[in-house]
Amino acid sequence: MTEDLSPAIPPAYDAEHEWMLGARCREMDPSEFFPSDGVGVEVARRVCEDCPVRTDCLEYALTYRIDHGVWGGASERERRRILHRRRGLSRTSG
Ligand code: SF4
Repeated sequence: MTEDLSPAIPPAYDAEHEWMLGARCREMDPSEFFPSDGVGVEVARRVCEDCPVRTDCLEYALTYRIDHGVWGGASERERRRILHRRRGLSRTSG
């Protein structure tokens, strides 16, 4: 048996997650974005308000149907509403 001496292949450039590097919450406790009540949701939303990657964050959560926490300033319920609205629009426009 021969030893594999080929160089390690670096992971592919992960453009899909690049936006996370600009996240305002990057240095914060993640639990702040998975609140258990409405007050916690408001606290998280305030952080998201001025986040430079807010749109990317929201679209990521919508794309992957992430159903917990505050993403892009939107709560779980708000994201469900956005998806519902989009589904309705795609049915009427096609
Ligand atoms: S929008 Fe909010 S949850 Fe998303 S990266 Fe920015 S601060 Fe974090």
